[in-house]
Amino acid sequence: MTKIAIFPGSFSPFSIGHQSIIDRALPMFDKIIIAIGINSDKNQYFSIEERIQWIEDVYINNPKINVKFYEGLTVDFCSKEKAKYILRGLRDSHDFKFEKNIAQMNKELNNTIETIFLIAPAEISHISSTIIRDIIKNGGDVSKFIPKQIKI
Ligand code: ADP
Repeated sequence: MTKIAIFPGSFSPFSIGHQSIIDRALPMFDKIIIAIGINSDKNQYFSIEERIQWIEDVYINNPKINVKFYEGLTVDFCSKEKAKYILRGLRDSHDFKFEKNIAQMNKELNNTIETIFLIAPAEISHISSTIIRDIIKNGGDVSKFIPKQIKI
């Protein structure tokens, strides 16, 4: 059976933290769908189109990676894509508390889908899209925190 994982998130923007999780998960799955969740409550700083384009630029040579966007429940999107796994990264205890509840709720919504967590490497566990956005808004250089293929 083809092993498909969904890596859901905002990716606003995609960072070397996200890239590290994907790179380490690649040997475990036949296909990883990077899924940009559209959250109507959040005023997104970057458009869906530019976020998709940036991720496609990073993985242009990797046929195992797809980039899509979705609205609604992540478990419903998994069913639509025939994905049995949700991939998430854990940076610290704050991520753990938040992710534990979501994973348990998702399990109740659909018992056939497992959430797989990878711990962030220490040297990049401080990197977050929120802080990257703040640096950009204030005219700083974020090139260290995003894949080299992405030019913001
Ligand atoms: P969300 O909007 O759901 O917080 P993000 O786009 O911020 O999503 O992140 C998607 C996933 O990537 C989450 O599981 C998050 O924990 C993980 N992630 C984000 N930054 C890092 C990092 N520096 N190292 C490892 N994982 C990360």
